[in-house]
Amino acid sequence: MVAEVINGKELSMQLKLDMKKEVEYLKQQNILPHLTVVLVGNNPASRSYVNGKKRASEEVGISSEIVELPDTVTEKELLQTIEQLNSDNGVHGILVQLPLPDHINVEHIIESIDPKKDVDGFHPYNIGKMMTGQDTFLPCTPYGIITMLKSKNITIEGKHAVVIGRSNIVGKPVGQLLLNENATVTYCHSKTNNLKEITNTADILIVAVGRPNVIDKAYIKEGAVVIDVGINRLEDGSLTGDVDFESASEQANYITPVPRGVGPMTITMLLHNTIKAAKGLVK
Ligand code: NDP
Repeated sequence: MVAEVINGKELSMQLKLDMKKEVEYLKQQNILPHLTVVLVGNNPASRSYVNGKKRASEEVGISSEIVELPDTVTEKELLQTIEQLNSDNGVHGILVQLPLPDHINVEHIIESIDPKKDVDGFHPYNIGKMMTGQDTFLPCTPYGIITMLKSKNITIEGKHAVVIGRSNIVGKPVGQLLLNENATVTYCHSKTNNLKEITNTADILIVAVGRPNVIDKAYIKEGAVVIDVGINRLEDGSLTGDVDFESASEQANYITPVPRGVGPMTITMLLHNTIKAAKGLVK
């Protein structure tokens, strides 16, 4: 068996074409969707993510701006910046790029963002809405994963979905979204016993571990759908996922590559959330 590849890059391009039309329509109604990204410090990875978000926004006609603050900024100053953005009617989406310097309490910052502008979907209020199945901003990576599954008409309802990883930004919310779609969900993590036995019962396997190529065909049930969230940079500078793509492809029905998999979908769902914010759809 050779798995069919779910190409996140291609799907993103299709979705962005539709978004571009939507943004044009909004502009005719005098609504200019606007995303503000706050970047603290000079972490090269963060800077590259932030630039990617700005570029993608421009592609679909969303106006975007990067507010840069030094890594010496105090928590109080950062809170003041967010307060100004909260009260600025021209700003529809606010994203604070993580990680933040150690002297800043991340929870305080996330909780200070107006939930109606929380396009990352990280605010506890929006997480609560997601958990109770209410319409809100869904966190971008998990939302991108669900969108990828649906793009291939993969049945989620009734399936056993196994999520390896339980971070607040990927593992936990993707499990919740799969549950909302009526999957039976199992979470695995670094303390899980018998990982291989559990993953071998997965119809849908989501891998969000952050270690290169740790999941190969021995962990995969024949015919499974494998979603590789991992982004790992190797010593030669190349990117690889958490899944051994060649090996897993022999066993799975569907698989996502790295790069050109979940990564591009994450940014695309951020654009989707920004348009949703501009339309005033999240109360
Ligand atoms: P975290 O480090 O926050 O979480 C990793 C999870 O993997 C933890 O829950 C940890 O368990 C679990 N884990 C670690 N080792 C093992 C193991 N040997 N067996 C089973 N579980 C294990 O990472 P993130 O969730 O933030 O990110 C995961 C990966 O996804 C990273 O490579 C990251 O770069 C990538 N990523 C990609 C995105 C995209 O857009 N494609 C977006 C966000 C992240 P425990 O909780 O017990 O420590």
